[in-house]
Amino acid sequence: MTRADELMNIRNLLQRRRRAILSANEGTHRELSALKDQERDPEYEEQAQAELADYTLSTLMESQRREVMLIDAALRRMDMGVFGECVDCGGDISIERLEALPFAIRCEEDASLHELDMRGGHQQSIPTL
Ligand SMILES: [Zn+2]
Repeated sequence: MTRADELMNIRNLLQRRRRAILSANEGTHRELSALKDQERDPEYEEQAQAELADYTLSTLMESQRREVMLIDAALRRMDMGVFGECVDCGGDISIERLEALPFAIRCEEDASLHELDMRGGHQQSIPTL
């Protein structure tokens, strides 16, 4: 398979994953609304449990949203034709790396350099992609 084919595969995977997350997100949203309705019920006694579930669902929705954002960013990079290109050296990021980390924007070498930079620097430690 050529690199272009491999990238197309990753694109399809990301699009499928995006749809799956969005429908999961809808489900989470419904659960959360159902929970809120329940909480308004004065007869509802399991308040602490409801709050925990509420928190768990909100956190889940948040991480689903974040993943969709990452996927959208990757798809945008594909549209611009720069997906799989290292933002630091401009070289190709290996397919193996992209398959494992489709949101990677750096080649392995630059990612580890970047990580070192971040540890030494003042930047906040955000995960290196
Ligand atoms: Zn690089």
